Amino acid sequence: MKCDHCPHDAVTFIRYNGAHLCAHHFMKYVEKRVKREIRRQIDLKPGDKVAVAVSGGKDSMVTLHLLNETFRDRDDIEIHCITIDEGIEGYRPSSIEIVKRYCASNDIPFHLVTFKDMFDLTMDQVAPLSGDNSPCTYCGVFRRKCMNTVAKEIGANYLATGHNLDDMSQSIMMNFVRGDVERLARLGPHKKVQPGLIPRFAPLRSIPEKESLLYAMVSGLEYHDLTCPYWEEALRNQYRSVVDDLESRSPGSKFSILSSYDQLYPMLTENYKAAKLNTCECGEPTLGKRCKACELSERMHDLIDR
Ligand code: SF4
Ligand code: ZN
Repeated sequence: MKCDHCPHDAVTFIRYNGAHLCAHHFMKYVEKRVKREIRRQIDLKPGDKVAVAVSGGKDSMVTLHLLNETFRDRDDIEIHCITIDEGIEGYRPSSIEIVKRYCASNDIPFHLVTFKDMFDLTMDQVAPLSGDNSPCTYCGVFRRKCMNTVAKEIGANYLATGHNLDDMSQSIMMNFVRGDVERLARLGPHKKVQPGLIPRFAPLRSIPEKESLLYAMVSGLEYHDLTCPYWEEALRNQYRSVVDDLESRSPGSKFSILSSYDQLYPMLTENYKAAKLNTCECGEPTLGKRCKACELSERMHDLIDR
């Protein structure tokens, strides 16, 4: 099959719009939509710094690469990379090397933050003690704090994450089915956030996971594709299969889920106004007195000391 736009062979058939695209036109197609997403989600001003949360997996590498390509010629916008080392032997070190190599060859400031330095813990210590909670519950809370702290330290105006269309449509469905409308309202993207938090955005928000993977492959990006040893068959996987099933029966369903959410978003935020936040002793914003990360880290240290 040939590309719809040139005589080259197509590398993909996009089911939801019937397009056959060669590598070059597929990349252009993704880049155009990502640029539109960036414009839609944030208002970049001269002098702004964008931090990108990069694990080394395909989505975060594609996000870093596309932001770097988009702003390569802009001297007034800085792109920084933040990578977190959760302390998972046999898994995390090799992905950190991939991110470091990309940053070194593209002159991107690279910031590494470790759970060890932040909490004096590693996920290899936490996972066996996490009990009824999944290790990912701890990991996610610790990671959010690391990200926010480092993004503030480097003076970032925005924090980009690698969430793609599949992640978004699964989260929307999950909160919808659980009836958790408040959490639904918090999915964002938010142009304004509370003091102490860095506004997040997701450039791949409307890019299906398959396209993110294909983009990484055809653009020759190096990425890490090992699975974390603590990754669990989580509730999210139920929604992954529900959403994938909808998409295969009616191509375009993932987009429709996202676009319905975007249309509802102004009403959701009107009804669920963000609560006023306090400051935890560690400096992070929190709903209560102490932030979740401080609470969970103390609980872990108690278990380790027992
Ligand atoms: Fe952390 Fe869970 Fe991701 Fe592993 S799978 S890195 S434990 S959130
Ligand atoms: Zn705290």
